[in-house]
Amino acid sequence: MQMATNNFTIKQLVELDACTRCGECTRWCQAFKESQDEYAAPDMRLREFRAMLKAGRGLPLLSRLFGGKMPSDEKLKEMAAGAYRCTLCAQCVAVCPSGIDLRALWLSLRQELVELGLNPRGLDLARDAIRTRQNVVNYPNEERAMWVDYMADAPLDAYQRERADVVYFVGCIASFSPAVQSIPEAFVQVLTMAGVDFTILGEKEQCCGFPLLAAGMRGEMDAAIEQNVAAVRETGAGVVAFTCPSCYNTWVNEYSPHLPGVELIHSTQLIERLLRQGRVGLRELGKRITYHDPCDLGRNSGVYEPPREVLKRIPAAEFVEIEYNREKGLCCGGGGDLEISDPSLAAAEATATLAAFEETGADVVVTACQQCKRSLQTARENRGSAIEVVDIVELVLRVARVQEEASDRDIVTVA
Ligand code: SF4
Ligand code: SF4
Repeated sequence: MQMATNNFTIKQLVELDACTRCGECTRWCQAFKESQDEYAAPDMRLREFRAMLKAGRGLPLLSRLFGGKMPSDEKLKEMAAGAYRCTLCAQCVAVCPSGIDLRALWLSLRQELVELGLNPRGLDLARDAIRTRQNVVNYPNEERAMWVDYMADAPLDAYQRERADVVYFVGCIASFSPAVQSIPEAFVQVLTMAGVDFTILGEKEQCCGFPLLAAGMRGEMDAAIEQNVAAVRETGAGVVAFTCPSCYNTWVNEYSPHLPGVELIHSTQLIERLLRQGRVGLRELGKRITYHDPCDLGRNSGVYEPPREVLKRIPAAEFVEIEYNREKGLCCGGGGDLEISDPSLAAAEATATLAAFEETGADVVVTACQQCKRSLQTARENRGSAIEVVDIVELVLRVARVQEEASDRDIVTVA
């Protein structure tokens, strides 16, 4: 696709004019609903930035193409703040009757705002942390696999093997945040029970670059891609598995051209495969469960059915759907760097989403993302809610039992 500017494609420039102003995107946008910031409203944002592009604010080519009125500096700052009050959840994309890829537009817009120096300062700090310490939380990266030290029965090699069929890419938040380190702990145990030959990368793993991409700093990602690809290649693995949907989505979109023949798979897809092949058995649960679609796994990656297949296989568990599921799934508020840009708005979204899940009457809301778990768990504590929040790999470990006779031991190798 030919670029009209460094940041917008021709398709996107056409899309800017395709909006019919129906307002459907804004009716569904949780960030707008919770913030009531007019610049967080997607239809308003589209209109205002279209006018800005026409005025050629920092964009001489578009200025010549369109001509237009320049916003004041003060208004521009408000518009920029509104553009970051967005989780990149893509609900607006799912409902837009004109088929406009608004999420891609928001990413291009953020790149433009970064060039104009109008991004939130917190995102500069996140970028600096990734540049200097290779992770978004600004911890020493040598501590990336320290979560293994807290496991009771970790093997002597601490899951770090020179060669393996599968690499488990853990991601920054699950590696460093004590609130969700139970997710990688559970996943490595499930993989071990299933007899999967896997490794983690330890300090050779770096931030995948998703926080940079979401911030509008795509140009900063190349070093991370190069290092992570090299670390995977060293192991000879044919599969890279993820418990983080944002890492998974980023690898599918940004890394796959650098890893031909390597399968990228989310934990929900891998576990569904392992269950189908009889490599793990499941005991009864005796609870009512429901599922929260993480935006980067569902709408942004199209993975809706594997987690449901896993949950429906658990004996004596009653599975119920929330009214807003799959393409209409609610957002936990933790995406799109919103937790860095506007933590109180992120928390308000999480609270509203958890309240909607309480309405299902479920005992447990299952998700498949460490960020969703963290956001919904915090909302649960703040609300004093009785509903339990777990990641799917934690629930699977809770009911898993070793299968003595597996039907196909080669299932996780590339076909
Ligand atoms: S991506 Fe989500 S938060 Fe952002 S404008 Fe669209 S619906 Fe709102
Ligand atoms: S849903 Fe699509 S067409 Fe309707 S206002 Fe939003 S961007 Fe415009």
